Amino acid sequence: ELEKRFPRVTLGYFPSPLQPLKRLSKELGIELWAKRDDVSSGLAYGGNKVRKLEWLAADALEQGCDTLVSIGNVQSNHTRQVAAVAAVLGLKCRLVQEEWTHWDDPNYHRVGNILLSRLMGAQTLLEGEGYSTEVKETWERALEQVRREGGKPYAIPAGASDHPLGGLGYANFADELAQQERERDLFFDTVVTATCTGSTQGGMVVGFKAQDRPRRLIGIDTAANAEMTRAAVTKIARATAEMIELAKPILDEDVVIDPRFAGPDYGLPDEETIAAIRLAAQSEAMLTDPVYEGKSLAGLIAMARSGEIAPGSRVLYVHLGGAPALDAYSKAFE
Ligand code: PLP
Repeated sequence: ELEKRFPRVTLGYFPSPLQPLKRLSKELGIELWAKRDDVSSGLAYGGNKVRKLEWLAADALEQGCDTLVSIGNVQSNHTRQVAAVAAVLGLKCRLVQEEWTHWDDPNYHRVGNILLSRLMGAQTLLEGEGYSTEVKETWERALEQVRREGGKPYAIPAGASDHPLGGLGYANFADELAQQERERDLFFDTVVTATCTGSTQGGMVVGFKAQDRPRRLIGIDTAANAEMTRAAVTKIARATAEMIELAKPILDEDVVIDPRFAGPDYGLPDEETIAAIRLAAQSEAMLTDPVYEGKSLAGLIAMARSGEIAPGSRVLYVHLGGAPALDAYSKAFE
């Protein structure tokens, strides 16, 4: 339905697979499924940004822009997906790669996401540090530089989040999930997702709110700043709700952010994160990363084991990608 109102280019294979995680379910005493947005695109390992960028890319093409300009951490999955989208659309790409975290490994700046972005022809500018949802001067400078060189930049903020169209992809995800539920005659009353720059969860909040049957959506904070994350998710959810003319208001309590599994800082795993990554790999061959999905999975596992997620519940784990960063974190698994 959103597709009829907002232009979208196809970049992924949707609907993304809905997969029962049988061995993990048995281990945790719940009925656990994954929605595999990590394998929903042929574009350089894909991930959640492909779903969002389908809407921003349509806007960029409509405006006649020739260069996608974005920003993220050195091992950002987002910037790698922007590079991929630029490559397939025949656009140029400039990426500001900041130091959001200090991970002490000489390969961190060479392998994984940043290697792939360079391979796809993006120009990577290693400058700036610290994660925040503020608009960054480094990003403004990169945009200005493209203009000075005679190009027409399209500005994509960190995580494709703080952008008028940023929430559309995951609002639409909610419709896609509802369709899959109807086809299989089941319903997920609990949905667990990683959350950071906010438009994944923000979009879902809106999409689920539009549905009749309520569900529990739990965002596991990965920014190690749950209040900043909450503000970002809430802002994006409200702006998206207004844009699509949702009849119901977004309430503060619609945004649930769990701060307990973020580890010591953004991009730094703790023992629980690593244990969750090993468990998913060894029981389901499902690869998760130390920055995002390992943390959301650690949260889900802890809540199932403590009974916060009741035994027997039917739970959806939304897998948003991120495994291309694993090589940069080999030290965490020694
Ligand atoms: N999971 C992965 C693999 C990501 O790359 C990101 C990006 O930040 C997230 C989760 C969090 O999504 P969002 O930034 O939309 O909150």
